[in-house]
Amino acid sequence: MKQRVGLGFDVHRLEAGRRCVLGGIELPHPTGPLGHSDGDAVLHAIADALLGAAGLDDLGTLFSDRDARWKDADSAQLLRECLARVHAAGWRVGNLDVVIATEGPRIAPHRAAMRARIAQLLDVAADAVNVKGKTLEGLGALAHGAGVAVQAVVLIERV
Ligand code: MG
Repeated sequence: MKQRVGLGFDVHRLEAGRRCVLGGIELPHPTGPLGHSDGDAVLHAIADALLGAAGLDDLGTLFSDRDARWKDADSAQLLRECLARVHAAGWRVGNLDVVIATEGPRIAPHRAAMRARIAQLLDVAADAVNVKGKTLEGLGALAHGAGVAVQAVVLIERV
């Protein structure tokens, strides 16, 4: 097979006093994703999509939140480790698309910076990475800034 796709999803609570790290960059916001690592739900969803496309298990299995080694881990580092496994399996990243659903930080002003940072982390051009924010219309447990949910779809190609 020459191309494969993978789907990733992640959710984190947003809590006061946490750095707001999403998409590999820090946003100016009074709350941030709670997590064992830095809580970057965007990079976690992308990592799971990548691993899923290559048939390489998932982020929670490779980097358990019960393992002290990954406490406060930089998710950019975790993503790079996942990418190295995908490359070692003979794949490269084609393109990816990401939806960030939250009523916490506004995503639109930071889309370009996120795209550039994610592209840098995945060794692809910025136009191979798309990121968009969606509000939750005030509905559900994640609304009103309580959390962030992310979906990512990634295409990989045989090298
Ligand atoms: Mg996560």
